[in-house]
Amino acid sequence: MTYFFETYGCQMNKAESAQVKNLLAGRGWTESPSPETADLAVINTCSVRKTAETRVFGRLGWYESLKAVREGRGGAKTAAFPLAAERGTGRPLTVALMGCMAERLGDSLKKDFPVLDYVVGNFQKGDFAAIAARAEGASPAGELPAGEDLDCFTSHTPGEASAYVPVMRGCDNFCAYCIVPYLRGREVSRPPGDILSELDALSADGVREITLLGQNVNSYRWDGLDFPGLAALTAAHLERTDSPIRWVRFLSSHPRDFSPALAEAIAAAPRLCRHIHLPLQHGSDRILRAMNRGYTLGDYMEKVRLIRECLPDASLSTDILVGFPGETEDDVERTIAALGEARFEGAYTYYYNPREGTAAASMPGQIPEALKKERLSRVIEASLAVARREMAKRVGSGALVLVEGPARDSPSEVRARTAQDGRVVFEAPSGLAGTFVKVQLTALTGNTFRGRVIP
Ligand code: SF4
Repeated sequence: MTYFFETYGCQMNKAESAQVKNLLAGRGWTESPSPETADLAVINTCSVRKTAETRVFGRLGWYESLKAVREGRGGAKTAAFPLAAERGTGRPLTVALMGCMAERLGDSLKKDFPVLDYVVGNFQKGDFAAIAARAEGASPAGELPAGEDLDCFTSHTPGEASAYVPVMRGCDNFCAYCIVPYLRGREVSRPPGDILSELDALSADGVREITLLGQNVNSYRWDGLDFPGLAALTAAHLERTDSPIRWVRFLSSHPRDFSPALAEAIAAAPRLCRHIHLPLQHGSDRILRAMNRGYTLGDYMEKVRLIRECLPDASLSTDILVGFPGETEDDVERTIAALGEARFEGAYTYYYNPREGTAAASMPGQIPEALKKERLSRVIEASLAVARREMAKRVGSGALVLVEGPARDSPSEVRARTAQDGRVVFEAPSGLAGTFVKVQLTALTGNTFRGRVIP
């Protein structure tokens, strides 16, 4: 039996898709190279932006056509389904949707899209055991047993050098634009003993890099152990066990919770990567207040100063949300100025989409779509210019990189990442994937470094 996954949205979704894949692999299932040849297609969805949901609706139409082609009905266009061997085979296709759209829209999706056999909410991922059994013909159709979550499954794909380690989930912050607290629930942390056991298993698998994951990772708390404590514990455990995991990253941080203790923990542990992703979201205090972010631009810049002081070689990246209700030209200019002041080497920029059920959706002063797009393009241009200026300062220096695989456009080159999360491309055999290599950063093209292997 084979599965095919389409995963949208954040790293947590990627980690959870991997957990479900591991459940299926445990039953002997393998990954299909394309959806056309799969027995089970799983779409793991994101509700943070409307565009992500719209794309999934389009994909559901496509799966409906695939089912029709398999069943020998309907006239799906040949170009869309190149695998003629699948036509009219009658081979069953099970389609399941999971993730935040499943949590938000529930079974109403099944009414609108009959192609969907299952809609699996964020806390019922254990349902996939029963879904797989049915697809195998090992259990009869009918109501699924009450589902549980899948916390006992690792998100690591065997053989891969990098792994996500979920350490907490949920969020208590209720930013005015964000639907996450409604769909992922309140903050729940994972016991440190479980996390360390998973680290041991990943070390035994030869993993080189992990990312400690949580919707609000630095709110981690377990019996008096906070996130700086967990980061220090993780680094010390890897050191003591002489683990091949040399790099530890973490995502996502809330600026309010980024503490001096965390900066000190990172400074004291070489395995903790010098890359801090700290979502600013906006450069105007008025908008930050309306967003309910819990800090001012001045507070944020204090954190930036702290990071620069404790971790002088760290790179800083951010998220920026433009077009929030009530935003003025002056607010946009403040945001553009903040990009330069914080000296970000990377920024994920997006424009505001109202999400039903959030406070911002009913706020006055909604910005027209065309203006949001125009503002976004200005912010993107400014953020790229700042990133290039900051990244250029690293050209000429040496860096340890973890090789990810062959470069996209050149078979004689590989792509890799620095501890600061910079992308590097250099001449090397592709067999180096998953290993650490020392390179000199020789040039910058767009936002990718070129490098040269050094002894
Ligand atoms: S901190 Fe704010 S933006 Fe981040 S997940 Fe929580 S509510 Fe959403």
